[in-house]
Amino acid sequence: MQNNLAGEIQRLKKERNAIILAHNYQVPEVQDVADVVGDSFSLSQHAAETDSDVIVFCGVHFMAESAKILSPDKTVLLPVRDAGCPMADMVTAPKLREMKARYPDAAVVCYVNSSAEVKAESDVCCTSSNALKVVESLENKQVIFVPDKNLGSFVASKVKNKEIILWKGFCITHKRVKVEEVQKIRQLHPNAKILMHPECEPEVQKLADFLGSTSAIIKYAGEIPEKDIIIGTEEGIIHLLKKQNPDKNFYLLSTGLICTNMKKTRLEDVHSALLNMQHEIHVDENIRIKALKSLERMLKIK
Ligand code: SF4
Repeated sequence: MQNNLAGEIQRLKKERNAIILAHNYQVPEVQDVADVVGDSFSLSQHAAETDSDVIVFCGVHFMAESAKILSPDKTVLLPVRDAGCPMADMVTAPKLREMKARYPDAAVVCYVNSSAEVKAESDVCCTSSNALKVVESLENKQVIFVPDKNLGSFVASKVKNKEIILWKGFCITHKRVKVEEVQKIRQLHPNAKILMHPECEPEVQKLADFLGSTSAIIKYAGEIPEKDIIIGTEEGIIHLLKKQNPDKNFYLLSTGLICTNMKKTRLEDVHSALLNMQHEIHVDENIRIKALKSLERMLKIK
């Protein structure tokens, strides 16, 4: 049944001249039908460069919206309409404007986990892969960082010559990881390395052996000699890690590391998206042009 569906998806994909992009946190069967699996940074780059007419974005709303901002002439589809990111909803454009008024000399860096309206109010976007480089590239001494306070404080811990003004947003999934869980799993697997995402809380981050984006975690896991690796980010990433490193053992740091929004998309939804051309993402053109500037500025930072 799943094989039939996967085959039908491939057929429709050709018919529609579509590309399927899937985030690392998607369920395995969705990752397996995708043309590209990656984090939000690499997927934004693919969305900007693809020749396909249709982009099926298996992820959450802000990601598909970013693809539409970068590729306005393409049809961008989000297979599950209500797959959203609670962290992205923690900052709104009016609230950000209020903060900008309080810090008129500050540059605004927004994590891609944000709406098009918030991107339009920002100077530059960032992802967890490039947040540090983006902040370092700015001349401003003050930087408002939205919406993730944990990624923002990770950046602040590395950048000494700037004041980083943090928003109070957070990822509800990574926030679930507790210090006690890290201590317990260390005891259980004393030879293992703990690889963690900077969306975890700062006191949890301190216990990691390595901190990085999903792409950085995947790269590092493949390079290190350790056979036992503990993963401190959403569990969907383990599917690719196991495929790429069949000789290694991966353990999830916390049972809380499951993002219910990322898990909403099923193979049936990808199929319906291509069959019925649903659910199309639209972005107001004035907002899109401003948001595009923030995204393009990020994409130029190497
Ligand atoms: S894992 Fe966190 S940041 Fe990513 S989509 Fe889910 S809630 Fe949002």
